[in-house]
Amino acid sequence: MTDAVTFRGVSRHFGIVKAVDEVDLSIRDGEFFAMLGPSGSGKTTCLRLIAGFEQPTAGHIEIFGERAEGVPPYLRNVNTVFQNYALFPHMNVRDNVAFGLRVKGVGRAERHRAAEEALELVELGGYGNRRAGELSGGQRQRVALARALVNKPRVVLLDEPLGALDLKLREQMQEELRKLQRALGLTFVFVTHDQDEALSMADRVAVFAEGKIQQVGTSEDIYRRPNTRFVADFVGSSNVLPADLVGAGASGQWASLRPEDVVLDASGREATVTGRYFHGRVTKLSLDLAGQSLTALIPAREDAPEIGETTKISWDPARVHVMGQGA
Ligand code: ATP
Repeated sequence: MTDAVTFRGVSRHFGIVKAVDEVDLSIRDGEFFAMLGPSGSGKTTCLRLIAGFEQPTAGHIEIFGERAEGVPPYLRNVNTVFQNYALFPHMNVRDNVAFGLRVKGVGRAERHRAAEEALELVELGGYGNRRAGELSGGQRQRVALARALVNKPRVVLLDEPLGALDLKLREQMQEELRKLQRALGLTFVFVTHDQDEALSMADRVAVFAEGKIQQVGTSEDIYRRPNTRFVADFVGSSNVLPADLVGAGASGQWASLRPEDVVLDASGREATVTGRYFHGRVTKLSLDLAGQSLTALIPAREDAPEIGETTKISWDPARVHVMGQGA
């Protein structure tokens, strides 16, 4: 099957800034693909390259197997949902959604029909006459999505689309977006700097740092088997420790051990508690194990040792992931 989007050695440099640097990437047709990374790592530039708002300074991009160079944004089979929604506040919801169709010269009746259909998809049927400026953040987000869907793209690009929403609404929209993507069978490319959001929503995640992709894989791959220290640390704040200290690998290698995999165990190894933080369902312990700092997340119902106390810890050796040399 042809991939939805392919990058072959794609770079986008701005002067000396290597925003995107020799990236190879395949996004499959119909998948929910997340681009995850810290601010400035090149995610948005990748999205803009797919959309056609930026051109590569090197390499090639294909969209459904066809070279994208020279194809203007409106002729690509993709549409973008921006973080700030970019709605026209004085226009009503229907006209906002239908705006792109109007620019393309689609007649009024057909425009309205298509806009209503897109609004139904995002559960805003009946909101067509409301002014965009009068809507809540969550509703504006849906209108922005309807405006992308109305063009019937095969790929929807979403740049931090939930960034402006409060946590509860954000979680609700995450679920709805996922359902909609599955129901429509479209390819979604989703940019976020929130690891929980990426891991919980995506079929596959690409982790970016400094214009390069560090790792691409399923959420499980990325979380359980990080390739590099950067990925281990960025995705879920893992403990990155000398492999021989945690009984795996050889000296000189590094291993990752997730904080939730460290357990209190009277027959385990001695560690000193250097910090203790209550987080509701869990308590986070900072520990010193033979001179190395380590974090453990233990269920809050357990009696957590106090700062300065010595405790005993262990972990399932199968949970230790040894990273390759040079990680
Ligand atoms: P954020 O999460 O903050 O949006 P990002 O991972 O999406 O970050 P990009 O916006 O792709 O990162 O930016 C990558 C790098 O390229 C940054 O250093 C940025 O300053 C630089 N950059 C992006 N666009 C331009 C531009 N038009 N001119 C110059 N530099 C740019």
